[in-house]
Amino acid sequence: MKGSAQAAREAALSSACAHAVVSGAGTAAAAGPGAVQNAVTVDVEDYFQVSAFRRLVRYDDWGRMESRIERNTAKALDLLSQFDLCGTFFVLGWVAERFPRLVRAICARGHELGCHSYAHRLVYEMTPQEFRDDTQRAQRAIENAAGVPVHVYRAPSFSITSRSSWALEILLELGFTADSSIFPLRLGPLDGRFPYGWPGAPRRPFRLRVSSGDLREFPLPTFRFGPWTLPATGGAYLRLWPYAFQCRRLGQFEEQGSPWVLYFHPWELDAQQPRMAASIGARAGHYARLAQTEQLLRRLFRRFRFGKLSDLAVKESRTWRASGASP
Ligand SMILES: [Zn+2]
Repeated sequence: MKGSAQAAREAALSSACAHAVVSGAGTAAAAGPGAVQNAVTVDVEDYFQVSAFRRLVRYDDWGRMESRIERNTAKALDLLSQFDLCGTFFVLGWVAERFPRLVRAICARGHELGCHSYAHRLVYEMTPQEFRDDTQRAQRAIENAAGVPVHVYRAPSFSITSRSSWALEILLELGFTADSSIFPLRLGPLDGRFPYGWPGAPRRPFRLRVSSGDLREFPLPTFRFGPWTLPATGGAYLRLWPYAFQCRRLGQFEEQGSPWVLYFHPWELDAQQPRMAASIGARAGHYARLAQTEQLLRRLFRRFRFGKLSDLAVKESRTWRASGASP
């Protein structure tokens, strides 16, 4: 049973997001270019908080760094507004505590708020209790800033994998109903950094069954290349793959009537950000073609339809158990 306070907060969210451009949520009846509504998602973190730089800028030093999160998130908001798009913003709890006005500005523009952890720690490097505490702290920080409930989650660097599947039970326990943390592939460790991916997980949105209930899961888009499964777009892949190449891969989702999830970060719209003395591999992924990000996003926004994550359809027939047993 929902408490009256929670019901009131959810009503406030619906009202705040009433002007969202979401018509015919989910998949359209006919498949084909532009027929499917996909999701656009933004991971709201500053340029120095990424996993690739975690050994260079420690959590205790975050407060001493030059913050560029407000201006960069404003760029993302303006870009989406130009296309009348509402998406899902996964906010870092640390950011929500220090920039509550920013969180309110995201919500006021009609976007959905999600949780991107508190301190950007990789899930599989935490104990279940640490994950619970981190997630709860972030959820409260975002909810306190915006005054609306937060029920969608994305793990830092897609770090919910088969090693950390226990996190899914905890998300349910904390009231989350949807997640977008699973990359259905095996990647890394790249350049001695963090590995991610859950090979064998479905490549389209599905209902994820764990012992205490179900989560709606929105995996990141991939494509098959010979024996490999590779990321199709988003973040560094958006900047590194040739545009026409990723467009063809994403078009295949549409031909099958399946929505897919785009992700990017505010710092990817900031080619002037300070440069970190990181390894060649880390710098290659973080700084490659930053000046192209906005143009690439514009092209995708013209080519495909986008909305919020929670508006995507999950076909009930696609159920997958976290243990890895396919239906
Ligand atoms: Zn992140």
